Amino acid sequence: MRIGVPAETRAGETRVAATPETVKKLAGKNELRVQAGAGAASSIPDKDYEAAGARIVGSGAEAFDAEVVLKVRAPVENELDFLKSKSILVGLLEPFNSSSLESLAKRDVTGFAMEWLPRISRAQSMDVLSSQANIAGYKAVVLAAAEIGRFFPMLMTAAGTVKAARVLILGVGVAGLQAIATAKRLGAVIEASDVRPPVKEQVESLGAKFLDVPYLTEEEREIAKGAGGYARPMPGDWMRRQAELVHQRATQSDVVITTALIPGRPAPKLIKELTVRAMKPGSVIVDLAVEQGGNVEGIERGRIAVKHGVKLIGLENLAATVPFDASALYARNLFNFLSLMLDPKTGEFKLDRADEIIAGTLCCADGQIVKKG
Ligand code: NAD
Repeated sequence: MRIGVPAETRAGETRVAATPETVKKLAGKNELRVQAGAGAASSIPDKDYEAAGARIVGSGAEAFDAEVVLKVRAPVENELDFLKSKSILVGLLEPFNSSSLESLAKRDVTGFAMEWLPRISRAQSMDVLSSQANIAGYKAVVLAAAEIGRFFPMLMTAAGTVKAARVLILGVGVAGLQAIATAKRLGAVIEASDVRPPVKEQVESLGAKFLDVPYLTEEEREIAKGAGGYARPMPGDWMRRQAELVHQRATQSDVVITTALIPGRPAPKLIKELTVRAMKPGSVIVDLAVEQGGNVEGIERGRIAVKHGVKLIGLENLAATVPFDASALYARNLFNFLSLMLDPKTGEFKLDRADEIIAGTLCCADGQIVKKG
């Protein structure tokens, strides 16, 4: 089996879908083609891929000329024509974007969208959304600490005492939990909110305070349970009560980090402009949901903007700003996923559509879109 690893071409994308560690594991039974410079932005030189058993190829066209292509992001327009009919493509293929899926189906590609990996125990080692969200949660706190004009920890100095920074975290999935853990290590005082009930215990176990918005109806309680590990949109009345509490706590905070997402929908708006206006001057908000429209009114995608004296950080793809570790974890996730399908003895590819993980991620095959987002 020939496996290709093209360099990522999207602006700001520094990650790569295979590392020397995963190339070495795949190289025995397979021919590995890595595009020259594919690992450069993750500080992985071509010679390390070569030492692991890969052949370095000079162009994207040669890296795409393979039975299996490993990518981080969905191919852009000029890469699509490199894809071979019947080839297998694995990556973040944007299954919620139907034109992206149509262009793959048109080329008769068998596409696996890692966004759709089922949230079951067996799939945890393949979960790219979790591995990358973990990094984004860490980096959001580091960014906030770098951008705010004050300390995170409480300090007692000869020149007097400095109060600990107050951090509010909205949305406590993988990114939010890592944001709490990172802010805690820096010495902040942390509060957090989420819709899903099990989160309270997780927040408290990390030493943060959970902001409870009680469920007043059976419907609210039922929706809050979410589906498949993800949240569902909460009823308007619960959102209104949450907004009141969030407004009150945000105006007492120095840093707000928002991570709230609902799959396939625009991100819920949790911080209104009137809340930003009421926050302390010099406060910082990091909105990790910016690529899905943002949790914060007035956030500007890809930019740091100052509004009403508050710094609004809307930088995208934060995982890609920690490229060495982001690539290492992403590549391991993809290797674990491929291991489901590659016969370890022969290197032959077997597509077992009855497997829940394979069926869950398969987005196009035989020239058709298998399912849309
Ligand atoms: P996500 O990125 O989809 O959403 C982030 C958080 O936003 C979630 O916790 C969600 O409940 C929250 N949210 C949505 N609407 C909100 C609102 N209006 N107000 C406040 N919060 C809101 O979620 P995620 O980080 O991918 O993970 C969600 C859960 O799935 C986590 O508990 C995680 O531990 C679990 N998980 C399980 C597995 C597994 O079992 N294999 C794998 C990965 C994640």
